[in-house]
Amino acid sequence: MALHRYQCCFCGLTVESKAPDVGSILYTTCIDGTPDMQHDQELYCHTKCLLDRLHPSAKLYALDLLDLSAEESSGESSPEGREN
Ligand SMILES: [Zn+2]
Repeated sequence: MALHRYQCCFCGLTVESKAPDVGSILYTTCIDGTPDMQHDQELYCHTKCLLDRLHPSAKLYALDLLDLSAEESSGESSPEGREN
């Protein structure tokens, strides 16, 4: 049971706590700069919203490590192209 609500940084809607969500991405400034220039922020998102925006060459390997077989039987859709 989710105790918190998360807003998707792409579509603005609430992200339901259902695998593979809630997803998050980490943004860091000046990753190639000095540590004093580096600041990070975690943003929440629907996995599908992130996948829809990623270039085909940017692979989400973390998804491949998640066993979604139990989730798929519940009837909710899974991210495109990520079904086992
Ligand atoms: Zn979204």
